[in-house]
Amino acid sequence: MFFAAHLVLFVVFAQAAAQTTLRSPELFGSNGSGQFRPHIFTGRFLEAFGKNSANSNTVQHWKGKFRWQGEEYAFSMVGTDPAHGSVTTTVPVIVVPVRYVFADGSVLDPSTDISGGVTPLQSILNSPVFQDRDYFVGGVFVGHTQLADAMQRANFWNYVSSNAPDYHVRLDIPTVLPTQTVVVPAGAGDTFTSGGESFGIIDEDFVFHQNNPQLLQLINPDPRALVILVTHNIGLVSGGLCCALGLHFSIENAQGNSINNQITYIWSSYFATGNPVTRATDIVPLSHEVAEWMNDPSNSNFVPPWVYPRNPFQYQINLEVEDPLVSGSIFNLLLNGQTYHVQDMAFLPWFTRTAPSTSVNGQYSFFNQLRGYSEPFSDQSDYSFTQIDVPGAISTRPRGINRYGQIVGNFTDTAMARHGFLLSDGSFSTFDPPGAFSTTPTQINDAGQIVGFFRDSSPFSRIRT
Ligand SMILES: [Zn+2]
Repeated sequence: MFFAAHLVLFVVFAQAAAQTTLRSPELFGSNGSGQFRPHIFTGRFLEAFGKNSANSNTVQHWKGKFRWQGEEYAFSMVGTDPAHGSVTTTVPVIVVPVRYVFADGSVLDPSTDISGGVTPLQSILNSPVFQDRDYFVGGVFVGHTQLADAMQRANFWNYVSSNAPDYHVRLDIPTVLPTQTVVVPAGAGDTFTSGGESFGIIDEDFVFHQNNPQLLQLINPDPRALVILVTHNIGLVSGGLCCALGLHFSIENAQGNSINNQITYIWSSYFATGNPVTRATDIVPLSHEVAEWMNDPSNSNFVPPWVYPRNPFQYQINLEVEDPLVSGSIFNLLLNGQTYHVQDMAFLPWFTRTAPSTSVNGQYSFFNQLRGYSEPFSDQSDYSFTQIDVPGAISTRPRGINRYGQIVGNFTDTAMARHGFLLSDGSFSTFDPPGAFSTTPTQINDAGQIVGFFRDSSPFSRIRT
């Protein structure tokens, strides 16, 4: 059952790779621009963190709370409470390179593969995740430090700029353990080649529920440390959705006796700059997960449901600070002549709906991609759905609508050719400019004029009818 389902997924995936290689480097994005499927976890780990008052059997953390519409929301974060002043927390880090061996003989190993002149492991260790650089937010210097620490200082700028100038949450110099080899069962993973590089997709259940717990049991880390499982060119597929490139989680250590050890860990993949399958390159996945781990180490920080800024139909209920902008812009960070890539992080006031924001410059995110705080998710639906299918089409994409409800878009016929359509008063008409072999109308105005573009033997040109 699973095996068959997986193969089907892979065929789709491989075809997508072939079709999008030239046009779009965003294969791993579910919507063509995102890099991760967010993970939403239940509250079953809340208890373990709640019981941990001595801070001795998991990562160093503090607890805070806020209110929204009469409800109290509690959270835990790595480090100390910034309201209490300047304290530097340095979290021990255990890095474990994971070498995946696939049934077809392919091997993806972050400690020996050469990707952009270095191994993924070395690139990560050299990167702003661990190494210090200057950070300015809107002209304000927030610190010469690691990326996640800079983000957290900016997040709690009300304290850092007053009574906690030397507040830090840092990752210690990592202990790099020997590479762990994992044999991926034939039904749980597959590989493909694109642009001369090998890529693997692995079933998320195998990695997340089976293999990672086994690795952690084997490693048996000090639960106060953050464990980072580093991988190369791997996407995790789940329920037909491709692909998760990173995840963070907390897990009870089975080696524990009466003490409730709670290990916090990250699984993250690495993709060289310029690879053909994703724009989430180098440290985009890892820095995403480090920031989220720092702000929700127990995966149990529940907040009022918030709507994705770029997708009003998708919402989340947890304090996952990198998920709101997962499909947003990618930013460059230069360090020692090397360019690394990261995404934006939402600040706490965005989730708590605090106005004005108490973060740096009154911003709601580090790279200022958010305007105002999060939109509440409402179950009161004041809309209904209408499915639109051009008769005989294998896919239909509505793209524009005017005040009279006339809709334009394009559709793909059984010969894989794209044509334009107009839906007006319930009836379809289809059209193509002369000589076009691919037509994409994008907008229609109230006068019924349509604009868009089409393809013929020359480069793209505009149409107007
Ligand atoms: Zn995330």
